[in-house]
Amino acid sequence: MDWEPIGKPASARERANLRDYARTCREFDWTRARSVLSGLPGGRGLNIAYEAVDRHAAGPRATRTALRWMDRHDAVTELSYAELAERTNRFAVLLRELGVRRGERVFTLLGRVPDLYIAVLGALKAGCVVSPLFSAFGPEPVRQRLTLGGASVLVTTGALYRRKVRGSRADVPSLRHVLVTGDDAEDGTLALGPALAAASPDFQIAATAPDDPALLHFTSGTTGMPKGALHVHDAVLAHHVTAAYALDLHADDVFWCTADPGWVTGMSYGVLAPLSHGATLVSDEGDFDADRWYRVLAQQRVNVWYTAPTALRMLMRHGADLAAAYDLSALRFIASVGEPLNPEAVVWGQRALGLPVHDNWWQTETGAIMISNFAAEEIRPGSMGRPMPGVEAGLLRRGQDGRALVTDGTVHPVMAEGEEGELALRPCWPSMFRIYWNDPERYARAFADGWYLTGDVARRDADGYYWFVGRADDVIKSAGHLVGPFEVESALMAHSAVAEAGVIGKPDPVAGELVKAFVSLHPGHEPTEALRLDLLAFGRRALGAVAPKEIEFDQHLPHTRSGKVMRRLLKARELGLPEGDLSTLEVTR
Ligand code: AMP
Repeated sequence: MDWEPIGKPASARERANLRDYARTCREFDWTRARSVLSGLPGGRGLNIAYEAVDRHAAGPRATRTALRWMDRHDAVTELSYAELAERTNRFAVLLRELGVRRGERVFTLLGRVPDLYIAVLGALKAGCVVSPLFSAFGPEPVRQRLTLGGASVLVTTGALYRRKVRGSRADVPSLRHVLVTGDDAEDGTLALGPALAAASPDFQIAATAPDDPALLHFTSGTTGMPKGALHVHDAVLAHHVTAAYALDLHADDVFWCTADPGWVTGMSYGVLAPLSHGATLVSDEGDFDADRWYRVLAQQRVNVWYTAPTALRMLMRHGADLAAAYDLSALRFIASVGEPLNPEAVVWGQRALGLPVHDNWWQTETGAIMISNFAAEEIRPGSMGRPMPGVEAGLLRRGQDGRALVTDGTVHPVMAEGEEGELALRPCWPSMFRIYWNDPERYARAFADGWYLTGDVARRDADGYYWFVGRADDVIKSAGHLVGPFEVESALMAHSAVAEAGVIGKPDPVAGELVKAFVSLHPGHEPTEALRLDLLAFGRRALGAVAPKEIEFDQHLPHTRSGKVMRRLLKARELGLPEGDLSTLEVTR
């Protein structure tokens, strides 16, 4: 079925930050856009936390609510910009007192609680590099990322520390300080509550330069361990501009981004972008629950809501009547990211919530939204939209392996309209990642002929709208979370019964994909139901939220000639699709 484009009334244009797409693209330039930032007083440089907090705390917005936080039981706590400035100063002072220096990595492993925001912004003030971890990760992904990133400090809760870190702390020798929220600390940790209370509320923000490292976000590839994409303080310019253009965020808005700050969306848009605008940021500690989410939207009078396709699909399942029971009249703009947004969801938004959903596209490496549907522009349901002003996107012809064709360092652009190609971007915006942490070769492999290769396949229509087709690699997107199959396979192979594993994303109507593992067993082990359940539990204990949801035994996993399990073939079989070119196959059924 073809979906009708959704046009916008003239009134949408009047209020929108981006009123004329074509003209803004022509005129936009990142250097001129810098005027939206303040820079550190006295020309001392640029620091994200100053742009997000202190510049507002020093002016007329000082008493405006920066963070409005709901705990699981609906109790609301508010912090003004002035209060957030003071608390983050204390955190920065504490880091200094502990001897933590600029450039050292401060990790967080926290749910959505005020201390998370305080630690992130305080560590940025101190010139440290912040690396947020998803609190639903199991001990194994946590250990790996702490080790790979050379963590000096971890901020977490006592319970998360005991469950996910304590057992492997000796594997992370760089980790000098573990700060636990609240008043109680066990051996080897420091209680954050009293430490912050005792720290001075005065701090001079580190004189960081725009190109100094600020954020380290781990993401997953097809092979090898997670990669740390490093972003610099200048990224805040892209956060600010893209929030204005793609999310239509205004300074007086109440803004809710439902992504967890343990992932890049939750950090760029759930913390930094709205604060850089001086808006009020809503944070909900609770997990998804349809009633609860509508209540948050209604009670908090949310104006701009940034969410994800999985959540929208779950709301759709609860029906439009549930939405109708709430007063959503404050809502002005809805956007979604992270996985393909089905056209039904775009249109459902208009019917059930009174507003269409604006899909946009980006990834950890790009640090900010790259392709988007805009407030004043026609939406094409099913399309990710058009490139942001200041961003050049292109499609590159694909080889047999799905990735862009590169010969002699030159890539081949796709010329014909509607033809598929690997989505590529010409780096020039300030939130582009600068390196993969300690992995220059992998970084180099991500570029060809001046293009950054995204690993996604897309097509473009005559008017420049991009349409997502799929991944060029085996990475899995489950409920918006990127899952590296290698990481899951490695964790399963730590089980004494498992000889080998191949992990794929199995299509799922709500989560997009779910993680499914095929495993072969060592001799002497039988593929029983008891073992299958044991493996599922083993995966959950090690990996947490990214563990496989399904496990199937297969003593004849297909391999390439180089000995790798052929995930692509496993997936084709799972879906009942043609198995494609088997010439590189060693063992098949
Ligand atoms: P991450 O780095 O975890 O943010 O994941 C980025 C990946 O998510 C992209 O490379 C895409 O594969 C997928 N993705 C993000 N946004 C969209 C979207 N709007 N439509 C389809 N896929 C998306």
